[in-house]
This record gives sequence, structure tokens and C-alpha cells, in this order.
Amino acid sequence: MAEKTEVEMLKEKLFNKKENGWNGVKNKENIFDYAKGYIDFMNHSKTEREIIKSSKKIAESNGFKNIDELDTLNAGDKVYYINRNKSMYLAVIGKNSIEEGVNIIGAHADSPRLDLKPNPLYEDNELAYFKTHYYGGIKKYQWTTIPLSIHGVIVKKSGEKIEINIGESEEDPIFTITDLLPHLAQDQMEKKLKNGIDGEDLNLLIGSIPYSADVPEAVKLNVLDILNKKYGITEEDFLSSELELVPAMKCRSMGFDESMVAGYGQDDKICVYAELTALVDMKEIPNRTAVCIIADKEEIGSMGNTGMESDVFNMFMSEILNKLGVNKPNLLEKVFCKSKMLSADVDACFDPIYANVSDRINAGYLGRGISLNKYTGARGKSGASDANAEFVAEVRNIFETNDVRYQVAELGKVDVGGGGTIAYILANKGIDVIDCGVPVLSMHAPYEVTSKFDLYEAYRGYGAFWRA
Ligand code: MN
Ligand code: MN
Repeated sequence: MAEKTEVEMLKEKLFNKKENGWNGVKNKENIFDYAKGYIDFMNHSKTEREIIKSSKKIAESNGFKNIDELDTLNAGDKVYYINRNKSMYLAVIGKNSIEEGVNIIGAHADSPRLDLKPNPLYEDNELAYFKTHYYGGIKKYQWTTIPLSIHGVIVKKSGEKIEINIGESEEDPIFTITDLLPHLAQDQMEKKLKNGIDGEDLNLLIGSIPYSADVPEAVKLNVLDILNKKYGITEEDFLSSELELVPAMKCRSMGFDESMVAGYGQDDKICVYAELTALVDMKEIPNRTAVCIIADKEEIGSMGNTGMESDVFNMFMSEILNKLGVNKPNLLEKVFCKSKMLSADVDACFDPIYANVSDRINAGYLGRGISLNKYTGARGKSGASDANAEFVAEVRNIFETNDVRYQVAELGKVDVGGGGTIAYILANKGIDVIDCGVPVLSMHAPYEVTSKFDLYEAYRGYGAFWRA
């Protein structure tokens, strides 16, 4: 190789190098092995309830205990709290006094999907359907003519809970929502994309055999008879159910080079997996207490008692202060004001096919590492939690010291759209927060795409943040 010229060396010294992460990779096998674990996790955890169940299993097998079971806490103790089977907080108690603040990483387990309505079942022209109400920001046309599975719970008035998971195993039937054939879609095709499929038309086809020839609604009756024999439920039991339709497609390795992952709900389960594995893989007791959040309801504004806006997280933190024996008035607020957080949520990935929505200079790219968003919001940064430069510098320093590949990006061109995460909720408590996650292609679609390199860097980056 020819010697570098003075200009080349100066450029190397002064420019912010934005390189493809794969170029520097020496241990591709580690990255691919780690992604295998992720793909397996995804295939057993498609909904928030399933994520919490899988995460509890991982936590317990790594020595984490339910905080309710412990009376006192000491450095090195590993605890968790599960909120109504839908959100979870974990902590590893650090060596330093907790009054110096904690290091938090928080992701969310809920993903866009279709929920069943409270009165879902009906029959029309000898076909049985479930009515749905979509959850989160979806492009409705993407949810027709794909295989769907049904996950969730039916709780009888007695309190008995029936867990449903149908459509994932090869032996199970799947379900689908029909769409109009192109031959007769002349009027539909003239509509704007967002109106092409009506929310009220997202009805799931679930049966077509009548129970008998001589009763009205015989197909509906046959479906109820099947459900009654299988689960012991009647139509009224749907009133107290939470049933979610998710794509019945497996999370898979993608591309000839197998560099990517395709799967449902990677927003934000990819960050859940990265943070959780980083937490349980921490070899030494951290200096600052490491706190991990798996939140619910992020996709619909974080409201409700399992969403990040609820005070349940404060309760968990207060319990830690109580059980450390240090709690006193206003301590929780003081701890928050000295705490730091990575809001681990996915970033919009630059898509060359839709390049015009991104500012190429400030976009997150596939395969360039974990993506930091200093702010999100819309229009003039409205609604954004804008990370302080001092804190961004700290995070940069942690990542660069640990050789973690990162990029700093923003969500699309100015005024093209926008979005938000749980960052502002924690920032409002006084915590220094920056969004920090994996870039995703086709975000919120039934099948999302990520890079195994970025996933691995998220895992490494989160670990470095907690160890710092
Ligand atoms: Mn998200
Ligand atoms: Mn989202």
C-alpha cells in the first residue's frame, strides 16, 4: 500500500469517519452467535406478556430475585419487579452509594399489532370473523393477506386465566385478513394509501363450517363450540380478554451474507434483548447501581399503570432505597437528578429506496453501529427530550473508550414527520437521558429488518454504559 499523503492524514485526523461497521470486524462469529440467541428469544416472545415471561426466566437463571422476597439489599444483589405481567424493572446494586445516582437503560416490550375488540365475534354470509382495533402506528394495508397468530389471555369472571397462543406451531392453524382482488379494486386503487384499508375492515377470518344446517349464525356457533371445548369459554368471556394478533412469521436470519435479521416487533424487542443480556452478562459488580427497564404501552403514549408514565417505576426505586436502609424525604428525587439513562429505542434507518425523507448527513445507517438520537420530536423539536451536550459527551467517551461503534442521527428530514420514545418521561424526573438504539428498516411493519452488527454493538454499548 502506498504511503498516506499529508492531506490524507489530515483528513483522517479531522473528519468524523462514518464507516461501515463490518469493515473492522474480526470476530464475525461472535456477532452471528449472539444474533442466534436473539432470534430464538424473538420466536418465543412476540407480545409484552411473553417478553416479560421470557425475561423473567433469563433473569432468574442468572441469579435475579423478586425484590419482594428480600428484606435488605447490598452491593451485588440482583433484583427485579414485574408490574402486572406487562412491564418489568431490574437492578444490580452497585458498590457506590446510591445517593450518587444510578445508570438506567430502558426499552419497551410492546409493538404495533391488532387487538381484538371486546365484542369481537360475528358472522357475515356464513363466514365467522373477529373484529379488531389496531394498536400503535401501523400502515393498515400491510396487515391484510399475511398469516396472523392470536396471543394473549382470556380471564374468566372467576379470575381463572386462560393463555392463548395459536398460529405459531406448524400444527396450528393461522388466520388472515382478506383484501380485494385487483380485478375489482378499481375504486380502492384510486384512494390515498392511508385510506386504502379502513380500520373497521381489519376483520380476521376465523371459520366457515356451520354447526348445523337449520340455525342462524351457525358458523359463529361452530367457532364458539370449538372454543368452548378447547378453552371452556363462552362468548361473554371475550369481554375480559386481551387478545393480540401478530404476524405468524418466524424471526429469521436475512440476506445471502446473513448479516441481517428480519422479524416482527424488533421495535423495540431488539433493545430489550440487548439490554437484558448486557445486564445479566455483567461479570463484576458495577460502581453505580445498574437499572434496567422493560416498559409497556410506549407505542400508544406510555399511559396507564403499565406504561412509563405511571408511578410504578418510582415505587421500585423507592423500594431499593428502603431496602438499602438509606431512604429519607426527597432522596428519590435527588437520586433521579444524579442519574443517567440510555433510552434504548430503535431508530429510523436510512432506506436508499426512500432516501428523500432523510437528511443523509444526519441519518442512522444500517451496519454503522448503535444510533444515538440527541432529540426526537416533530417540527421545531416539539415534544422532544433534547439531551444535554455534557451528557452526550459522557456517552461518547464511554463508547469510544470501549471501542463501541456508534452514530449520532435524527429521525428523518426537518418537518417530514417525527416521533418520540420514553426518554422525556425519565428526563422529566431530572435524569440525563439520550435515545440510543438500533436502526430499523420498515419500522412498525409486520416484518422489520435490522443489522446483526448494530444489535451486537447495542449489547456491547449497554454493557459499557453500566460498567462506566
Ligand atoms: Mn420503539
Ligand atoms: Mn415504535
